[in-house]
Amino acid sequence: MNEPLRMCIVCRQMKPKEALIRVTLCKGETHINNDKQKYFGRSAYICKNEECVNTAIKKHSLNRAFHKEIDKQTYEELTKFI
Ligand SMILES: [Zn+2]
Repeated sequence: MNEPLRMCIVCRQMKPKEALIRVTLCKGETHINNDKQKYFGRSAYICKNEECVNTAIKKHSLNRAFHKEIDKQTYEELTKFI
């Protein structure tokens, strides 16, 4: 079986989707782990671990991934997954 791998925007490791938090930018709004809600747009993935989430918050990695200012609330929401 070929499991699709995605790259974490923080550590740049390829991991299966289950190990990652998915953030999608849809119509200017960010949605986290939106699989059921079917938002489409540019996605970024971050490992579900403290290290990558904390680094993403500290370095504002999502801003860089989306070339956009991402609000604090979105970053805070990431911590719910770790
Ligand atoms: Zn990572």
